[in-house]
Amino acid sequence: MKRLAFIALTLILSLSAQAYTLVIDAGHGGKDPGAIGRKSKEKNINLAVALAFGKLVEQNCPDVKVVYTRKTDVFVELDERANIANRNKADLFVSIHVNSTAAKNGPQGTETYTLGMHRAADNLEVAKRENSVITLENNYEQKYEGFDPKSSESYIIFELMQDKNMEQSVNFAKLVQQQFKSTAGRVNKGVYQAGFLVLRATSMPSALIELGYINNANEETYLCSAAGQSALAKSIYNAFKAYKK
Ligand SMILES: [Zn+2]
Repeated sequence: MKRLAFIALTLILSLSAQAYTLVIDAGHGGKDPGAIGRKSKEKNINLAVALAFGKLVEQNCPDVKVVYTRKTDVFVELDERANIANRNKADLFVSIHVNSTAAKNGPQGTETYTLGMHRAADNLEVAKRENSVITLENNYEQKYEGFDPKSSESYIIFELMQDKNMEQSVNFAKLVQQQFKSTAGRVNKGVYQAGFLVLRATSMPSALIELGYINNANEETYLCSAAGQSALAKSIYNAFKAYKK
């Protein structure tokens, strides 16, 4: 009985020690492949890096509870991804994606976005592409209050959301970009703000990471390699550790 009480006490202590909740969101999945490269799909790269990042946190940060929006190749609606973070009272929401452009051969490099009014046409294009997935959902017009992911006007509703989360989100985003360069040797294309639906609906610091360009042949090879995925995951993990401290 004493032993049982001890086990129960240890369990309670270890649960209460997990004071910090990190939600990791592997973008796209299932019927939504995300950006498509010459030999790969964005959804699979996102998932591999998300799981590797989460594993590093689980192995090294006993005080952090890791929640995934998906751990397999399934379709999860954008608002449900945000709901998972809100329901779990997450302290940080990290959405992981791969970029692409309309060009035959894209540029190379990583970018990290935080929520904000679009400032440049380029950011708007990235946000439009990542948001367009909602057209695969039922009743998306009602659910997202008439938001049309392809219309520039719709983005005007993203008023400057200068709330308390903004500064922390930007701090985390900068650390991620620094780590991509120092740990993984990637091209740092910077930190930006854009109107991502998945970030708008979350009520905690959040960032959306673009790991690289799937339509750049060299970068696609890197993104698909075990070494590349491991270095990218390690970079995000290092940034998370630094941010949390
Ligand atoms: Zn994406």
